[in-house]
Amino acid sequence: MSQRLQQRPEKSDEPLLRVENLTKHFPVNTGFISSLRWSSDGRFPLELDSQSVRAVDGVSFDLYPGETLGVVGESGCGKSTLARTLLGLTDLTDGAVEFRGTRTTTFDGDAKHEFRRNAQMVFQDPQSSLNPRRKIGNIIADPLEAAGWNEERRRERVLELLGQVGLKEEHYGRYPHEFSGGQRQRINLARALSINPDLVIADEPVSGLDMSVQAQILSLMQDLQEEYGLTYLFITHDLSVIRNVADRVAVMYLGDFVETGPVDRLFTEPHHPYTRALLDSVPNPDPDTRGVESRLVGDVPSPSDPPSGCKFHTRCPALIVPDPFTREEYREYMELRSDVCNETLQTDTDPASVRSHYFTSSLPAAVDQTVERAISHASDGDWDDAQSTLAEYLSPCEAHIPKLESVADGQLSACHIDSDDREAFSW
Ligand code: SF4
Repeated sequence: MSQRLQQRPEKSDEPLLRVENLTKHFPVNTGFISSLRWSSDGRFPLELDSQSVRAVDGVSFDLYPGETLGVVGESGCGKSTLARTLLGLTDLTDGAVEFRGTRTTTFDGDAKHEFRRNAQMVFQDPQSSLNPRRKIGNIIADPLEAAGWNEERRRERVLELLGQVGLKEEHYGRYPHEFSGGQRQRINLARALSINPDLVIADEPVSGLDMSVQAQILSLMQDLQEEYGLTYLFITHDLSVIRNVADRVAVMYLGDFVETGPVDRLFTEPHHPYTRALLDSVPNPDPDTRGVESRLVGDVPSPSDPPSGCKFHTRCPALIVPDPFTREEYREYMELRSDVCNETLQTDTDPASVRSHYFTSSLPAAVDQTVERAISHASDGDWDDAQSTLAEYLSPCEAHIPKLESVADGQLSACHIDSDDREAFSW
């Protein structure tokens, strides 16, 4: 289980939201027949194969009243699924979510209704979350109507909210298409705040908006937080967006938190190589340093088949390589091993050509012999032997799952480079 995200503001001792080892897996829809495993003679089905997409894979954190926790990561890392699972919009697979000390899965009837009122979500695409055929006054009033407010009170409240989000009374009777992207996000905020929630989960609330409008919406969200005493979970793919709004940040990769900490520390002393790579990807407004290339290459691997050990190892610029490799050589070696595992290695050419296809320079003698033996096994169709031959060299990053461990006051990182057990690995 991951270590809890600890640092918190001193406003309150009790978390508003407590999340313990939250897991959300989706079954892979391969069809009933193809999901069966069969007896060795192929005649009897034995059991269902439990392949799944591990969208959220054991996340723990506390969120305290009045604070803003930023969750950052590339698209496909599980951020939006985390948000939906926290609010009960999708069922959790394992773990627990507590709101004010009570498990949300125990809520029913009035308690469920109250939780829905108290925890609101603001979505990424303000256009698609607003019904184009309804006037915005009615859209904002929906939660109030559901809460039993009469028409006069609803109208009064909506007009008040329009003013608070920087819109005018005359906008009450207009339709969503009459507004800009930034104005539509203001309408979404007004709707989310209409019945005074305690928690707002904002999923990419400013992506797709231009920089100046982003700044206006972020500033508005901060003003509203102060006015209403809101607690925010702010989800984004862009670290620079949360620099000025979050108290703490959790960096997410393939369903796990890989680094967490106070926002200032994360920006000035990032520990995890993924956090550093994300920071390198933030455009630098300084023309003298513009053009520095991001060290983050390749795509996020599929959560239905995540890499072994540290899930970031297939892309990590700091990958720990075993002796006697250089990092470049070991990347090439991993590529060869991947093709052997997938049985996609081309074996119809001579071994020297196979070797030069993968390696740009000559290898240390011991590695060269291993590669030669593996290619020979693969050429004979002995893929298992080829695989076990190449398993002679393995990075600790591929073999061991790093745990979130404290690296500084309130800052946790899941990387073998930070581990106290570093000496236990033979690299
Ligand atoms: S454990 Fe290894 S692969 Fe993972 S982030 Fe650390 S150095 Fe990179």
